[in-house]
Amino acid sequence: MHPTHPRYAPPHAVLPTPKSGRRLPLVLGATAVGLSLAAWYLVRPAPAQPLNPHSYTPALITTHTHPTPRTSLIRIRLTDPAPPPGPFYALWIKSPQVQIERPYTPLRGLEGPEGVEGGEGAEGREVELWVKHEDGGEVSRYLGGKRAGEGIEVRGWTPTLQWEDKAWDEVVMISGGTGIAPFYQLLHHLFLRSRSPSPSQPPPPSTRPRFTLLHGSLSPSELPPSEILGPLVELQRREPDRFRLRLFVDRLMDGAGAMGAGQEAEVEVAGQRLPLTVGRIRREDLVDAVRPSHSPPPPPSPSWRGLLSSFFPASSRAPPAQGEKGKGKKVLFLVCGPEPMVEAYAGPRARDLSEGEVGGVLGGMGYGRGEVRKL
Ligand SMILES: Cc1cc2nc3c(=O)[nH]c(=O)nc-3n(C[C@H](O)[C@H](O)[C@H](O)COP(=O)(O)OP(=O)(O)OC[C@H]3O[C@@H](n4cnc5c(N)ncnc54)[C@H](O)[C@@H]3O)c2cc1C
Repeated sequence: MHPTHPRYAPPHAVLPTPKSGRRLPLVLGATAVGLSLAAWYLVRPAPAQPLNPHSYTPALITTHTHPTPRTSLIRIRLTDPAPPPGPFYALWIKSPQVQIERPYTPLRGLEGPEGVEGGEGAEGREVELWVKHEDGGEVSRYLGGKRAGEGIEVRGWTPTLQWEDKAWDEVVMISGGTGIAPFYQLLHHLFLRSRSPSPSQPPPPSTRPRFTLLHGSLSPSELPPSEILGPLVELQRREPDRFRLRLFVDRLMDGAGAMGAGQEAEVEVAGQRLPLTVGRIRREDLVDAVRPSHSPPPPPSPSWRGLLSSFFPASSRAPPAQGEKGKGKKVLFLVCGPEPMVEAYAGPRARDLSEGEVGGVLGGMGYGRGEVRKL
């Protein structure tokens, strides 16, 4: 017989068998399954990353209301957020159409779906933003058009200002419009959030600093919503020696019609009637905020000059009047609002958009770097 005949093949030789044709479908099937698995692995949705400052993660809008004609109050549920640093931190939101991002200020730390704080960082995963609709603004318009149930992309937290408790005697906050948000965040952090009786979080010292918030809006209907003013009014009632709130409006659009600058009116917030000053925050109001006792401000001058100066804060060139700068007191001014307002009270920012020198009304009163911060 021929030595290569199968029957005489060496013991370890691989012999073609008549069955080998039947394995082909098995091999093809296994290959197909393998390829499908590989394809699924490549195109599967990536697991949602927790909120972080470096990359965007999905978030869900849970409620969206319009408390004033040109603003939105938006609650956002975040993915696995760590407790925010505090105070003075921001959450970034991007508009996917144009890939532009902007920072916004959560009013409080993390809350549960019903707005109840589950101890910051516990079951709470929601933050609330008060956002102004800027005419022609990219991101605020995008956010303003989002409804409850829709998704957005966010990143955070990023610190916006180093809060240093340098044993200030007085902290005076000046805000315009949605510029109240960082001050609400600060006051909420210090006074309003639910506290666990943890020794690492002692209550704030009961004597200082004293906080004064001077807030201006265009008209009563554009004042911050009761979600913001309500807790502040309650704080003022509870701790009158620690916190004082004064509200200003450029004009009285509702009710009694327009009134003269400097006149007093009233507005109802959370069932309480609050005094409302018509006209912009004046130099005298800043002086009054750092007086030993929170006495009422001097009456406005009836002259045209007085009327105008209440709408246009005195220029930085005006010499400081006797006793205007709180002598012997450690005073910190924080200013946040539309850029022209920040400039009027604290001077323009530097070219590189850092805070720059102190100018404006506060510069004219003798306050300098370290005593005035522009947010
Ligand atoms: C730390 C920080 C926290 C903030 N927190 C809040 C907050 O809590 N709530 C809030 O409402 N805002 C907040 N802001 C402001 C916010 O980040 C945005 O700047 C604001 O919403 C406007 O952004 P935008 O993209 O809508 O508008 P932009 O597109 O930036 O437009 C801003 C303005 O410029 C004008 N403009 C735009 N393009 C042009 C153009 N080509 N020519 C002329 N004018 C133009 C617009 O008409 C508009 O008036 C915060 C800012 C900072 C820095």
